[in-house]
Amino acid sequence: MLNIIDRAKNIENEIINWRRELHQIPEVGLNLPQTAKYITAQLDKMGIEYHTLVKGNAIVGLIKGNGKGKTIGLRADIDGLPVKEETGLDFQSTNGNMHACGHDGHAAILLGAAKILNENRDKFRGNVKLLFQPGEEYPGGAKPMIEEGAMESPKVDAVMGLHLGNLGKGIPTGKIGVCYGAMMAAVDVMHIKIKGKGAHGAYPHQSIDPIVIASEVVLALQTIVSREINPVEPAVVSVTRIEGGFNHNIIPDIVEIQGTIRTLNESTRHRIAKRIEEIVKGITMAHGGSYEYKYEYCYPALVNSEEFTKTFVESAKKIVSEEDIVEMKTPVMGAEDMSFFLREAPGTFFYLSNPREIDGQYYPHHNPKFDIDESQLWKGVALVLQGTIDWLNKN
Ligand SMILES: [Zn+2]
Ligand SMILES: [Zn+2]
Repeated sequence: MLNIIDRAKNIENEIINWRRELHQIPEVGLNLPQTAKYITAQLDKMGIEYHTLVKGNAIVGLIKGNGKGKTIGLRADIDGLPVKEETGLDFQSTNGNMHACGHDGHAAILLGAAKILNENRDKFRGNVKLLFQPGEEYPGGAKPMIEEGAMESPKVDAVMGLHLGNLGKGIPTGKIGVCYGAMMAAVDVMHIKIKGKGAHGAYPHQSIDPIVIASEVVLALQTIVSREINPVEPAVVSVTRIEGGFNHNIIPDIVEIQGTIRTLNESTRHRIAKRIEEIVKGITMAHGGSYEYKYEYCYPALVNSEEFTKTFVESAKKIVSEEDIVEMKTPVMGAEDMSFFLREAPGTFFYLSNPREIDGQYYPHHNPKFDIDESQLWKGVALVLQGTIDWLNKN
């Protein structure tokens, strides 16, 4: 038997070192050459086979266990943010970007799990696929990885991933948050252009005023969630940008509106996309204007498999006490592109809370003073290992 807690604690310094080295070289989006080079160099040292996708910015590793079995995919997002770091840490980033969401910790945890799994291939059957993913913050890296075959040969039967950091009062430091079902929302963007006819501000009768039309549109959009969606179902339609006009005496031609839409199920998502256009069309037509409309489907809702999550929680109880496992009863309206992997295969995404104070306070994700508590990283490795080995040996 493999003593998972001991093994993870044994390599704690190495895990922390990976995190610190990655912390110094944060890169953003789908262009992570240094990060990918760093991770592949570690996999080379471990003797783990891999190939790259998304122009070399995503890494898919493969560890074959002892005998035929299923394949589990372990996902870590590895991108940073264009934020100038102000933590004052010894290993603070100096390249103008920052690991301000803890993805350096995710990558270090997956490297730790990979190392121990690779050294203990005789302890499990089936395969483990390592999914190091770029572009989680934007523009999305899971989708191109899947399109390029990350979930095939061998086909991935289940997926697991985690998020570290400051996860709010619901999940205190050191505890883990699990969710049986819908956990995070789908995120989409609406782009609306209201086209009228410009004129002198003193002669409105010669215009088709897009500002008045846009105002009606903004108010009418509020009724989608308040009047058309079942009140017990979470949904958000937020107008977040409105732009038009030049001066006090000119009625402009065009007003642009942008906003975010958050939903938890596909039918509501498509319904809102359709209703926005119907409202825009009706109001602009009523005033003699015209419009352009684009609904951009971004990340789908993140939905955990109830069955897989149950198995994972049983495994997690071998690593942490039962009181340290917090069930999230309500989803959050934030988004994560882990959802694309979870659409391809059942699995679970969980939180490991480990915020660290800077100057006496906890800063939120994406803040220049955000930091993670490294003393919890071994626990992430142990949880991923236990969940992986138990699931592979059971299936
Ligand atoms: Zn983030
Ligand atoms: Zn993140």
